[in-house]
Amino acid sequence: MTEHFDVVIVGAGVVGASTAFHLAQRGDVSVAVLDRGEPCSGGTAKSCAIIRSHYSVPSNIDLALRSLAMFRDFKGALGDERADCGFVNSGYMIVAGPGSVADALSTNLALQAAEGAATYPVALDDARALHPLLELDDVVTVGYEPESGYADPIATTQSFFRAAANKGVVVRPHTEALRLMIDGPRVVGVETSAGIIHAGQVLSAVGPWSSNLLGGIGFDLHLEVSEHLVLTFRGEAPYSAEYPIVKDLTTDNKMYFRPAADGVILAGTGDHGEPVEDADGLSEDVSPALLETQRVQIAHRVRGFAAAELVGSWTGPYDVTPDWNPVLGPAPGVEGLQLAYGFSGHGFKLAPALGGCLAQSILGESTDVDLAPYGIERFASGALLTGAYGIGSIS
Ligand SMILES: Cc1cc2nc3c(=O)[nH]c(=O)nc-3n(C[C@H](O)[C@H](O)[C@H](O)COP(=O)(O)OP(=O)(O)OC[C@H]3O[C@@H](n4cnc5c(N)ncnc54)[C@H](O)[C@@H]3O)c2cc1C
Repeated sequence: MTEHFDVVIVGAGVVGASTAFHLAQRGDVSVAVLDRGEPCSGGTAKSCAIIRSHYSVPSNIDLALRSLAMFRDFKGALGDERADCGFVNSGYMIVAGPGSVADALSTNLALQAAEGAATYPVALDDARALHPLLELDDVVTVGYEPESGYADPIATTQSFFRAAANKGVVVRPHTEALRLMIDGPRVVGVETSAGIIHAGQVLSAVGPWSSNLLGGIGFDLHLEVSEHLVLTFRGEAPYSAEYPIVKDLTTDNKMYFRPAADGVILAGTGDHGEPVEDADGLSEDVSPALLETQRVQIAHRVRGFAAAELVGSWTGPYDVTPDWNPVLGPAPGVEGLQLAYGFSGHGFKLAPALGGCLAQSILGESTDVDLAPYGIERFASGALLTGAYGIGSIS
């Protein structure tokens, strides 16, 4: 079977879904989205789906703020009454102990405010009022975002796909892209497990699997895959779904935690994680060392968790670049091929607005947020997008 679409998107995670939705809005572009499994069966399904605007790279702040507005009015943004991203407006808190990290936090809070974010420093007593279980004796600076929260990553992705499909986008599950077809200087289609699909433009949005699809093309992806363990704990009393998310910059592993279903707390790390050769080879084992670290850190920060019970866990892949920011936009040396990978553990919150920018880039238009700084060339030029807290998913 041979088909033709104007645009083929490989990868049906939240990035592929949002881009497909934005292309569908145009009405005159034929689009197919392929996934080797079901839609949303990759990293997005494992996401903690925390939505905040706290970044130190200005274009990340811009993308995050535009996306936050979409999450907060998801039905309106998608023009679909059935759209549901499961957004919970819990608020977001970021805490730092004395020293340079607190200085960086204060600087970034001012930067956020200048970029138009609803975020500000709060006094420790005010922070305790916002989150009555927090222990803050070793904290000097707290930033707070009242409009942030968390969402349901699967519902979000499915909503994008439903809205896109309503406007004619074709979604092909269980259709693996085996190879990109390149003729001279440009991409001309995709060879898939279900036949050849010709396309004028191809977006590679396969996240942690990017090396498999792009590895043979002739440029260094600067990509590493690592596995990240998420743990859920039950404390003495049910943990309220309304408590703010907390990012704890006093911890070496840049721990974050948020409420989860059934009154438990969900905790993850914003650090390097465990490198893996293959994103299909993640271990679901709970590392005793990490479990102990997280137990101690949660008990230290949250009252009522000294004897916390481990309730559940899962592992998901991060696709990490050297500066912990994604590679976005045209591929070097291959006309018509666009890249979107390397989200380094923070791509969910950026995806709604980013999909619009990727759609614009695919159509050769100027983008709402300049994607040029995210070009792969930055790793050779040295113009990295490293954030103020160094490596980690909060750049
Ligand atoms: C544990 C964890 C916690 C996270 N927490 C947060 C958070 O709190 N906030 C936040 O903003 N971000 C978070 N993230 C990051 C965020 O979830 C990801 O950056 C985002 O979901 C990536 O989406 P994606 O569409 O790029 O990739 P994916 O969702 O991985 O989608 C890629 C798709 O490509 C498909 N595919 C692969 N190869 C092929 C092929 N050859 N042919 C066809 N299809 C193929 C896969 O099946 C998959 O469905 C977290 C990630 C993890 C793992």
